[in-house]
Amino acid sequence: MYSSKEIRNLTAVALGKKIADKEITSVQATNAYLEQIENTEKDINAYITVMKEKALERADFIDKKIAEGENWSNLMGVPMAIKDVLCMKDTLTSCGSKILGNFYPTYTSTAVENLLNAGVVVLGKTNMDEFAMGSTTESSYFGATKNPWDLTRVPGGSSGGSAAAVAANSCAAALGTDTGGSIRQPASFCGITGIKPTYGRVSRYGQIAYGSSLDQIGPMAKDITDCAAILEIISGHDCKDSTSANRDDTDFTSALENNVRGMKIGVPKDYFLDGIDEEVKTNVLAAAEKFRELGAEVEYFDLGMVKYAIPAYYIIACAEASSNLERFDGVKYGYRTPKFTDLNDMYKKTRSEGFGDEVKRRIMLGSFVLSSGYFDAYYVKALRVKALIKQAFDRAFEKYDIILSPVAPTTALKIGESLSDPIKMYLGDVYTVSINLTGIPAVSLPCGYDKDGLPVGLQLMAQTFNEKAAIKAAYSFEQSFKDNVRHSPMYE
Ligand code: GLN
Repeated sequence: MYSSKEIRNLTAVALGKKIADKEITSVQATNAYLEQIENTEKDINAYITVMKEKALERADFIDKKIAEGENWSNLMGVPMAIKDVLCMKDTLTSCGSKILGNFYPTYTSTAVENLLNAGVVVLGKTNMDEFAMGSTTESSYFGATKNPWDLTRVPGGSSGGSAAAVAANSCAAALGTDTGGSIRQPASFCGITGIKPTYGRVSRYGQIAYGSSLDQIGPMAKDITDCAAILEIISGHDCKDSTSANRDDTDFTSALENNVRGMKIGVPKDYFLDGIDEEVKTNVLAAAEKFRELGAEVEYFDLGMVKYAIPAYYIIACAEASSNLERFDGVKYGYRTPKFTDLNDMYKKTRSEGFGDEVKRRIMLGSFVLSSGYFDAYYVKALRVKALIKQAFDRAFEKYDIILSPVAPTTALKIGESLSDPIKMYLGDVYTVSINLTGIPAVSLPCGYDKDGLPVGLQLMAQTFNEKAAIKAAYSFEQSFKDNVRHSPMYE
């Protein structure tokens, strides 16, 4: 008989195996995590919705199927958390916003549907920056999420609820979404592992859109093995998303190989110049040297275009957001202002009351760059810059299998620090946004700790659809870093 604590100390894949071997039931596992949610939620606020009854009912159903000899996947019966940007039928899907504070979708997103078909148990929906716009999870209508490593700090964002839940061990693993870094940066701030897959790898059907050309769903988990297992389940072609890719190279767990011999790794020198914390730099460069020791060829090079990534990203992301968020008008679903005089007044009041400051800022910025006088000067120019950034990465990938960099210039910031200065917050995305502009995959995993004991993240990028190279490199590094890995004080 395993104690709740012993159950929670297992990775998702290890737990899945014990459930399949009938050593642990899914109900026991679900209870173990519900207990930890109970222990930690008042401090961290990682969840918007906890689905206690539904989760236990589902776990019981899964246990019955297992007893009948069924085996749907290596994660059958494993309890997971889902970012509240992903639609789930008859379950509140708020996107962290007041305007969707009463939205119960009539359908389930494909990524979540794939998890359900694999036998995963959903514990609840996690907190996030409103409409996934932000890097701190402070802009949620449901209050800020706190970092389990230090409750005075942010967990990162926008998938901060998912990251905090994994770091506090109040779920076995989670799904996040990444438009400009929202899986990788909170993974980095919370000392966990995440993958932003290649654009098109995972269907976006049922993901509430922020920047449709940039958005991707991905795993956030205790280690790269769990991430690979989850990605294997959620990826694949979906006729409901016209940008979803039809490929058969989704056996990501086959890439979990401890061997980087001969692998070529490029480290962009221009990522280590201004504005990076000394301790982040030291830890990331030490990781690069570790790869050399492990037999990889490590080379420093100039990537170029670095300073243009943030402006191009924010123009494109806000332009797409302003158009995507037009649908929230109080007519079809979501919040509607209680008092209004006519239709225009209803739109105006609904949107004024329903959206928070950051979302309004981005709708205004996006509408501006798309307006007729400025479209060429800003939006079209940003698209050209995006093409040049893509060229810079393509050139680098002619030489290297992996590009290695920090995830963020700092470790977790203090709560409130970036609220007064949005530009500063935007600048924190300098190493992550290019990955979305170019569509390539990247892994974020812990590589060290600063003097305050806060985790430092390492980013490993690979060429389009070559998640396997990044997974292999991450697995090899993780093996060498095993003895140094720490958990947040709330984990136990
Ligand atoms: N911080 C970035 C932004 O605010 C990225 C957010 C995301 O990836 N969803 O746009």
